Amino acid sequence: MISCFDRGVCFVAEPIAIYSIKLKNLIFSRGYVVDRAVGVLNIAIAGGGIAGLASACLLARRGWRVRVFDKAEKPLPVGSGLILQPSSADVLRALGIEAEIARKGQVLRRLAGRVQPSGRLVLDVDYGSLNKGAHAIGIQRDVLYTVLLKEARAAGAEIVFSSEVSGSLESEGSIHVLLKDGQKHGPFDLLVNALGAQSPLTKTIRPPMGFGALWANLVVPEADWYMADGLEQRYRQARKMAGMLPTGEDETGAQTVAFFWSLEHRDFDQWRATPLGQWKGEVVALWPELEQPLQAITSHDDLIMAKYFHRTHLQPVEGRLVHIGDGWHAASPQLGQGANMALLDAMALADALSRPGTIEQALKHFVRMRRFHVYLYQAISWLFTPFYQSRSSFQPWLRDHITAPLLRWWPVQKLLAHIVAGTLGLFKR
Ligand SMILES: Cc1cc2nc3c(=O)[nH]c(=O)nc-3n(C[C@H](O)[C@H](O)[C@H](O)COP(=O)(O)OP(=O)(O)OC[C@H]3O[C@@H](n4cnc5c(N)ncnc54)[C@H](O)[C@@H]3O)c2cc1C
Repeated sequence: MISCFDRGVCFVAEPIAIYSIKLKNLIFSRGYVVDRAVGVLNIAIAGGGIAGLASACLLARRGWRVRVFDKAEKPLPVGSGLILQPSSADVLRALGIEAEIARKGQVLRRLAGRVQPSGRLVLDVDYGSLNKGAHAIGIQRDVLYTVLLKEARAAGAEIVFSSEVSGSLESEGSIHVLLKDGQKHGPFDLLVNALGAQSPLTKTIRPPMGFGALWANLVVPEADWYMADGLEQRYRQARKMAGMLPTGEDETGAQTVAFFWSLEHRDFDQWRATPLGQWKGEVVALWPELEQPLQAITSHDDLIMAKYFHRTHLQPVEGRLVHIGDGWHAASPQLGQGANMALLDAMALADALSRPGTIEQALKHFVRMRRFHVYLYQAISWLFTPFYQSRSSFQPWLRDHITAPLLRWWPVQKLLAHIVAGTLGLFKR
């Protein structure tokens, strides 16, 4: 028999108890209310890159046990510059790193591309056409990596280096991680494949695309021609392309810019055998102002050759294995979406797992949230990459004579800005 007093206590105590739990979760997960009734999940993440570390952070903050396996021997931030598009702003906010990234990165308001020798503007994207103040952020990949690693560790995720994942083994509602050296880890409730474009956890391995690019981080040139708040590119048809992507500060605090030069893989050995001065002459013939900044490159080893992949795995969920980031969908960086897609996947997965219900239901919800956006951008990237990197004469002709004039028309301008911002077809939380 419940007395009036007891009822009164319940009436007051119950909401207090519920709201204090919600408040604790809200503080704990920096902005999310955890509402999932499955108890503590034990999650393995294969790959500690952008998708893996962002997931580790978001999932560990929900109080779940998270272990990340990466093949690198130690924290290894590789590469050059990235664009964080407006589409990933919510994820940066949810991760609690928005201010740090804004401080360390460079605000980008515009993307511009000129075709040589005429110098005509054939690509002109103004983020401001989306809304006043809209912008992207150029950032060094290792700066983003270091921030994510710090947050994932602070959230309580365990990061295990020197662990090359070779496969997985699923049985009765749990999954094990298999390493190349024969070790078997688990059981886990869920395995997240964040191994990138060449993940051995998918059967859809593809060779790299014909074109990749040489990348180098340079110090920002002090010159009038340099566009500090935009990505600028120069093309000759689609066979030659140079670009300058402002990327904010490096670990010493110096302001940097990522320089890139389009190159076919089959020409890489020949490029290495060519005297550096001869190659620089080729770049300067396309973009004369680069003569001075290129002086900082004194050896072929100052440039890294990045391989690009285009690949979509058609089954993002296979039992207790879920694919995210490049492990699900890899595309050439022409549209500058890969890191954003990886971040959006990470947040959608964490959100889906936070809903009441079974893991299987949560994974279905994750796919529903991300599928349309992913396939749309894979298609757009596949369609447009040859306009900028290919041996074709037709696509660059279309770019210069059909799409460039259309871009002066505001609806097309706005559509292009949406595409580049990553916001077209994006499922809003
Ligand atoms: C040169 C270049 C420029 C780019 N520019 C942009 C841009 O401007 N904007 C943008 O949004 N995207 C850009 N991208 C794409 C973006 O970098 C990727 O889409 C993004 O890094 C994908 O994140 P991910 O975590 O899925 O994979 P990755 O970042 O590739 O991480 C994979 C991780 O898995 C680890 N790993 C791999 N295999 C194994 C294994 N077998 N066992 C254990 N660990 C393993 C790796 O060490 C790595 O840590 C660019 C890509 C390149 C190459």
